[in-house]
Amino acid sequence: MDDNGTDTHCPYCSLQCGMRVAVAPGGGAEVRERPAYPVNRGVLCGKGRSAAEVLRPEARLTTPLVRDGRGGNLRPASWREALDVAARGLADVRARYGPDAVGVFGGGGLTNEKAYQLGKFARVVLGTANIDYNGRFCMASAATAHRRAFGLDRGLPFPLADIARTGCLVLVGANPAETMPPAVRHLRELRERGGTLIVVDPRRTATAELADLHLRARPGSDLALALGLLHLVIADGNVDGEFVAARTTGYEEARAAAMAHWPERVERLTGVSVSELADAARMFGEAGTGMVLTARGAEQHSKGTDTVGAWIDLCLATGNAGRPYSGCATLTGQGNGQGGREHGQKADQLPGYRDLDDPAARAHVAAVWGVDPGALPVAGRSAYELLGTLGLDGGAHALLVMGSNPVVSAPRAAHVTERLGALDLLVVSDVVLSETARLADVVLPAAQWAEETGTTTNLEGRVILRQRALDPPEGVRTDLAILRALAAALGRPDGFPYDPEAVFDELRRASAGGPADYAGISHRRLRGGEGVFWPCPDEAHPGTPRLFLDRFAHPDGRARFAAVTHRPAGEEPDAEYPVYLTTGRVTAQYQSGAQTRRVPALNAAAPGPFVQLHPRLARRLGVVDGEPLAVTSRRGRAVAPARVSEAIRQDTVFMPFHWPGEGRANTVTNPALDPASGMPEFKLCAVRVERAGEA
Ligand code: SF4
Repeated sequence: MDDNGTDTHCPYCSLQCGMRVAVAPGGGAEVRERPAYPVNRGVLCGKGRSAAEVLRPEARLTTPLVRDGRGGNLRPASWREALDVAARGLADVRARYGPDAVGVFGGGGLTNEKAYQLGKFARVVLGTANIDYNGRFCMASAATAHRRAFGLDRGLPFPLADIARTGCLVLVGANPAETMPPAVRHLRELRERGGTLIVVDPRRTATAELADLHLRARPGSDLALALGLLHLVIADGNVDGEFVAARTTGYEEARAAAMAHWPERVERLTGVSVSELADAARMFGEAGTGMVLTARGAEQHSKGTDTVGAWIDLCLATGNAGRPYSGCATLTGQGNGQGGREHGQKADQLPGYRDLDDPAARAHVAAVWGVDPGALPVAGRSAYELLGTLGLDGGAHALLVMGSNPVVSAPRAAHVTERLGALDLLVVSDVVLSETARLADVVLPAAQWAEETGTTTNLEGRVILRQRALDPPEGVRTDLAILRALAAALGRPDGFPYDPEAVFDELRRASAGGPADYAGISHRRLRGGEGVFWPCPDEAHPGTPRLFLDRFAHPDGRARFAAVTHRPAGEEPDAEYPVYLTTGRVTAQYQSGAQTRRVPALNAAAPGPFVQLHPRLARRLGVVDGEPLAVTSRRGRAVAPARVSEAIRQDTVFMPFHWPGEGRANTVTNPALDPASGMPEFKLCAVRVERAGEA
């Protein structure tokens, strides 16, 4: 590290803003600007600016903890004792119930090296099929839709800066102005260049404030909205027949599906007027180039894959895919949500984004791992299926959690918490004593972002290097060192290096020739640079900022229309539960809040949960701003102060999900799963809203 610090990246969201970390004049660490890095040009949001706060020893774990017997307290322990208790417990459960009874739950914030090593540890050391991660809750439906349509999923198949150069940008359930504020400069530039911005969101968010047209669609109706727009694009004569004929298959089926969604029907389903639909269809259809970016608002539904598929169909019909400054893409949320899903911690995938059920993929990865392909497990349970069955017959009886806090972030969280409590063994590796770690039998304190080197892959598919800038405090170990120690204790002393560069070099070999090919990317190449876009098959290759320009990734080179139709949500409002609940984030907190709730400035900006509701609904309930409201679904009840605002639809309330306790939004949410992707329906459930004293 020179006097001005070390180049690295933010520990939080998928923008992975560039920053420098330096030793502060009074000791400790401080974050500084890194203006040359192109994604954020030195601009950081409040979370990034305060990221050094979570490195303070008083904000985190620095000692392993072991629980004294069942029902006992967590107490400090030596690393030797903690690792011994963890390894013996994992071995014991495996011996009693079989390998699939040991579950592994990873996180979208883990570096590529950790995600890779965790997948290898699960499949080679534990021999379990049951590994999944919290990214399943984040973008799994978009990933499935993109693979189905294009043969490959990379969040953005183009650099983020391209969005400023498109003719019409549609953001569906995406709120970058609050979730990743430095990205807003691209939206502003789009408008300055004469482009059009359409935002689809049931709430008037900070992003919607920037839009030319805000479509305040009913929760769960984005699929119908896309079909209605495709219907009108066809009626307006704005289908690009040449593109459709040359580069796609399945248009006729998609056309038939769209024609069944005539504007008046779509108005009834979405709450968006026919005239607004017509305006949006004309803006998009006549723009010359167009882009659709989806995020969790469109994706976290039991029909999430089909919803994204419908928006992809709109892009394909108008020729807006596989061409410069056009396309359909997803704004991934978590810091390494992209890389985290590419390298083996997903239940159905192997490193390099290979399918676990593909014999050639199994043979390739098994050869790198030095094991028999037949010994690799098959695909296991998706995240909620794993968490929701813990401790039950056929479910996992031991769980290793690395970098995730499902007690706050999982749907139907009270049930998941109960299931975690029914385990024979819960081992948690984390940087803080999260709500999940508090339930553990063994807690392993991990080093964090600025204290260890590792790669992440941002929302654009740009692989970047977070460099170690500081020594970790006494008492913590890196996740790679923890996996190495557990592997050795379980009889695998070799094959689990703790040097991140050595792990990455193995990941390169494992990914070589796969859809997400990292073979030509190395730590050396990334050091001090702007990152390299995958695929990058050899060291002389420049990387691939824009995908699909010549062909899509299906064997015939063509994209596939999804041809889907509207269907209701897993749960719709009724007489007993008459209001929609939708959940989301606020700017000052991140995910389950395990880190950001420990930062005083962020806590001051967003101190706790709230229920946003429209003044008319508030009047009907006799509620005033700040009064405690009970939000009750078929799964449970959350209580938080009312925040009365015209920014939300009258039939909908909104809760951010960052907090535990009685205001935990996920106590209420519905785990209805998207059959194609395993995505739970975080973004919509039916609730009853009452003054807390009356509930
Ligand atoms: Fe960090 Fe995301 Fe904020 Fe950038 S936008 S500083 S990556 S949290």
